[in-house]
Amino acid sequence: MSIKLLPPRLANQIAAGEVVERPASVVKELVENSLDAGATRIELDVERGGHKRIRLRDNGSGIVKDELELALSRHATSKIATLDDLEQILSLGFRGEALASISAVSRLTLTSKPATQEQAWQASCEGRDMAVTLQPAAHPDGTTIDVADIFYNTPARRKFLRTEKTEYQHIEDVIKRIALSRPDVTFILRHNDKVTKRYAATGTDQLAVRVGQVCGKAFIEQAIHTRCDYESIQLEAWLGNAEQLRSSNDCQYSFVNGRGMRDKLILHALRQAYESVLAVAEQPAFVVYLTINPKEVDVNVHPAKHEVRFQQSRLVHDFICKTVCDALSSWADPEGQDDNG
Ligand code: ADP
Ligand code: MG
Repeated sequence: MSIKLLPPRLANQIAAGEVVERPASVVKELVENSLDAGATRIELDVERGGHKRIRLRDNGSGIVKDELELALSRHATSKIATLDDLEQILSLGFRGEALASISAVSRLTLTSKPATQEQAWQASCEGRDMAVTLQPAAHPDGTTIDVADIFYNTPARRKFLRTEKTEYQHIEDVIKRIALSRPDVTFILRHNDKVTKRYAATGTDQLAVRVGQVCGKAFIEQAIHTRCDYESIQLEAWLGNAEQLRSSNDCQYSFVNGRGMRDKLILHALRQAYESVLAVAEQPAFVVYLTINPKEVDVNVHPAKHEVRFQQSRLVHDFICKTVCDALSSWADPEGQDDNG
């Protein structure tokens, strides 16, 4: 066979295999884009677990008409320009693949109006060359992305979609995770036209309020709150107690520099701390925020960005473990328990 360049849609569908696993991954990418665009209010409408439609509306910076086409192409990003940027990355997205990938496996329309532009414009792309068409639209400042019929053109992927209920559950989990990382942003989630989650941003005590909104009143009232600094690392955590062992292990969240993670090192440090205090292998609910100099952490390890690499991994591990241990030890010590009640 002779060597040929893949047609754009096919190339993007292949890339989509990595980024777009299920409707919830679309939600994650779209919401992260809105946050990167400075949105303070994000509304998400999901139909039939995302099988039918995912529509996100934000009040972020918007995309100017001349860049709509670029936003839909692969390796196009406004977020990094050099390798040096990559090393100090603070924004959530940076690969410039999400919109291109999603639009290759769904019917996507992108409607946007930056505050500086009179008219809103809508972009969509068609065919194997993914040619972009633009038309004027009515839209307030911000962006709406409508993703319909996910995987309609990739039957092999479509087969892996679970029930609407399961896919919706994954979407809800994504929203909870992101909402915990951004207490300053209002999130509204609707499923089949009913509001299912509403996390309003508040003025004061934002983080504690948001943890309560997402994990529930019972959790926030019983959890031990701790905060600790060491050199350039900071940890803030709400740690569930032993009574919440069985009921709430679905509420386990960790964040590195505001990004939701299922990082092995962090989970290991937490498990070790909990085991040493509770003498059980199970972990109760927790919400843990780690802040560290971006130069000391590499986020470009995992395509879905669930894991990071710490330069001083031992130090980070032991810092987390010790801080959590110290906080939890008030259970072992009845006097301390009163202080944290
Ligand atoms: P990445 O986020 O990795 O840059 P994406 O494919 O997700 O790549 O998005 C491509 C570009 O489109 C972004 O860099 C950004 O400039 C623009 N964009 C995407 N979504 C939004 C949004 N909701 N508001 C403003 N700009 C957006
Ligand atoms: Mg992105």
